[in-house]
Amino acid sequence: MPPAVLAGRVALVTASTRGIGLAIARRLAQDGARVMVSSRKQAGVDEAVGQLRAEGLEVSGAVCHAGQRADLEALVDETLRRHGAIDIVVSNAAVNPYAGSTVDCPEEAWDKIFQVNVKAAFLLAKLVVPHMRRAGGGSIVLVGSAGGYTPMAAIGPYCVSKTALLGLTKVLAHELAAHNIRVNCLAPGVIRTRFSAALWQHEGPRRRLEHNVAMGRLGEPHECAGAVSFLCSQDASYITGETVVVGGGWPCRL
Ligand code: NAP
Repeated sequence: MPPAVLAGRVALVTASTRGIGLAIARRLAQDGARVMVSSRKQAGVDEAVGQLRAEGLEVSGAVCHAGQRADLEALVDETLRRHGAIDIVVSNAAVNPYAGSTVDCPEEAWDKIFQVNVKAAFLLAKLVVPHMRRAGGGSIVLVGSAGGYTPMAAIGPYCVSKTALLGLTKVLAHELAAHNIRVNCLAPGVIRTRFSAALWQHEGPRRRLEHNVAMGRLGEPHECAGAVSFLCSQDASYITGETVVVGGGWPCRL
């Protein structure tokens, strides 16, 4: 049997105790990586680690609020302490504390959205790049959103934060290519998770959403995970600065 595509790699995934992040952590581990899972709550970390270990996967966990620089630093330090390297980083954390018109968005909500959704991705890159450079390379995946291309009504500030990640992906890819660090982005369409429940839990809005999707249905978390594993693998060795939309044919354009 050929070796697993991510054998020998160490991966760190933020916000990975549920939903898309958990599915990505699971898939990276299934593909051979040792994975550090994290989120804000110890109970969630313990549950996710227990679940993945019961599946025979090599994972460890740590609490990390992505909006707190000290937590990000501690997560990177803990991953290095336990595994000795960080080859893969998936920046997946995001919040959306506001729904409504963009001009009515309270300044505090705007700041929180940008703190967690954009600044955390920048800080995480800043923290891991020196280690990746020393190791001779690495792969970073930012989790954006199809809403970063085509903003959805009532979640304007969140969508703008995700558009910023499209730009951050391009900028980092150019700056880091010389160090053999590739940076790509995953842009999910509407995926059935707790985060997006308000969009799909009632039949009327869900039907309207499904009507906009070429495949006529919403996505599941595991359907986002293979694309991330691919982007982090040697099969993607000549791919950087790109965004992969996993949206079932959701219309996406800037
Ligand atoms: P989810 O199922 O609700 O899971 C959210 C995860 O993030 C949990 O593990 C949660 O654990 C953790 N988390 C929340 N706030 C955090 C913070 N400040 N710091 C660290 N961890 C935090 O959400 P999801 O739908 O999988 O969303 C994951 C990513 O996909 C986000 O970047 C989101 O913008 C993006 N996305 C989702 C959809 C969709 O339709 N679901 C579409 C496009 C993009 P704790 O509560 O323990 O912290």
